[in-house]
Amino acid sequence: MDPMHLYEPEAYDPRWPDSHWAATVELPPPVGPLTGESRTDVAVIGAGYAGLSAARELARRGLSVTVVDAAQPGWGASGRNGGFCCMGGSKLSDAQIARRFGLPAARAFRRFQREAVEHVAETLQTEGIDADQGPWGEYLLAHRPSAYRALVAGATELRDIYDEAPRLIPREELAGHGISPHGFHGAMLNPVGFPLHPLKYALGLARAAQAAGAVLHGDSAVTGMMPDGTGWRMVTAQGVLRARRVLIATNGYSREDLPGWIGGRLMPVISAIFVTRPLTEAERDAQGWTTRNMSFDTRDLLHYFRLLPDNRFMFGMRGGLSARPRALERLHDEAEQHLAALFPAWAGIEVERHWSGLACLTGSLAPYAGPVPGMEGVFAALGWHGNGVAAASLTGHRIASEIAQGGAGKDATLPEVMRRIPPRLPFPAFRRRALGVTYRLLSLKDGPLPR
Ligand SMILES: Cc1cc2nc3c(=O)[nH]c(=O)nc-3n(C[C@H](O)[C@H](O)[C@H](O)COP(=O)(O)OP(=O)(O)OC[C@H]3O[C@@H](n4cnc5c(N)ncnc54)[C@H](O)[C@@H]3O)c2cc1C
Repeated sequence: MDPMHLYEPEAYDPRWPDSHWAATVELPPPVGPLTGESRTDVAVIGAGYAGLSAARELARRGLSVTVVDAAQPGWGASGRNGGFCCMGGSKLSDAQIARRFGLPAARAFRRFQREAVEHVAETLQTEGIDADQGPWGEYLLAHRPSAYRALVAGATELRDIYDEAPRLIPREELAGHGISPHGFHGAMLNPVGFPLHPLKYALGLARAAQAAGAVLHGDSAVTGMMPDGTGWRMVTAQGVLRARRVLIATNGYSREDLPGWIGGRLMPVISAIFVTRPLTEAERDAQGWTTRNMSFDTRDLLHYFRLLPDNRFMFGMRGGLSARPRALERLHDEAEQHLAALFPAWAGIEVERHWSGLACLTGSLAPYAGPVPGMEGVFAALGWHGNGVAAASLTGHRIASEIAQGGAGKDATLPEVMRRIPPRLPFPAFRRRALGVTYRLLSLKDGPLPR
């Protein structure tokens, strides 16, 4: 195992995963590696939503930008996620954020999340990216009666404190929304957010960044980074890149030493998804599930799912601790059992593809976007806690102005909640073991699946 990565090498295999998304796009010809010596104003490490959004904006501002990725643009979580373009980004509750940062900061963070969703919708439109955008609105489904009571209380808070307009749906009204009440005890509908084809969006962003003037290189893992006069020198297998400023946008795929500051501050987690064969109308009716809106449940170890435009059903969950093929197979089997428990009419339905990827938590349970301490001109944007489609995109876009202005704290458009340096996790060498214990405790807290 590469000591600079938290998981086994399979998690970082640079080939495209066998995902539904990769199977339903025409993959562009690979972008070539960085070779020889080159110089750029800004180097972006990582070509996911964060890096590509930053590159597009930096190039539009007239800076020379070079993006390097260990695989290809969109290969990371950005090209393989569930496609929920939704609010989120932190694992802290709104109440915890308000306690820790104050109410104005908590409000600003929720405003940022709403703006992030709108930013993606706007980018799709202005860049002419057809990413199979689905209907607006996201259902949060209560997995037990007490969870619905908590949703009722939470909705009042969202209306009164955050000026939002969630809608509560008691259990007996779920069927009217195309949601089966089996195993669900009511829901809250957040009108903000929409589903999309994540890889079409990522590839569209890559094209947009290139069109704005950014240079993209694939198969170019940065393995070292050192000071170089007034800037930085980055080393890949075949090239050297010098830049005045650098953005680290490597999220769950980060190396522990790039830069050293990152070591032990992140907790990459495996998320697994599968997609069934297309469901017939009769099968959808049999389960009572016809909504195409994004849905997830109130469990700590949550499930997320949605009916795709072509009637395939996508189902995802977290929980794995190893990227070894057999361990992933077990995780995928478990995910299929969870589908069968939650959607009994579809038990045993043919699964066409399953795949997984790395999302990323931080030691503060909030994302970080800002300067890397002690490294003049180096910035980082990461830690979306499994909700980066919108948050990483807007953060990349906004941090570009801070990078362009060249300085720490010179931009006030990123919320304070994302500006606190995440602490190093205790005993980082034992992170995966601690995650295993956490998963077991959360699973007990979540309780059994419905029968
Ligand atoms: C299975 C799964 C489902 C998810 N579902 C959702 C969802 O429905 N909605 C949602 O909002 N979020 C979801 N997420 C999270 C979301 O996908 C991520 O938060 C988001 O894509 C992160 O974007 P990013 O640009 O920060 O990082 P990534 O897209 O992960 O990109 C990081 C890139 O950095 C590159 N890299 C790493 N190290 C180096 C190096 N040394 N040199 C060069 N390149 C390097 C990698 O190759 C990778 O391409 C999901 C994640 C997973 C794994």
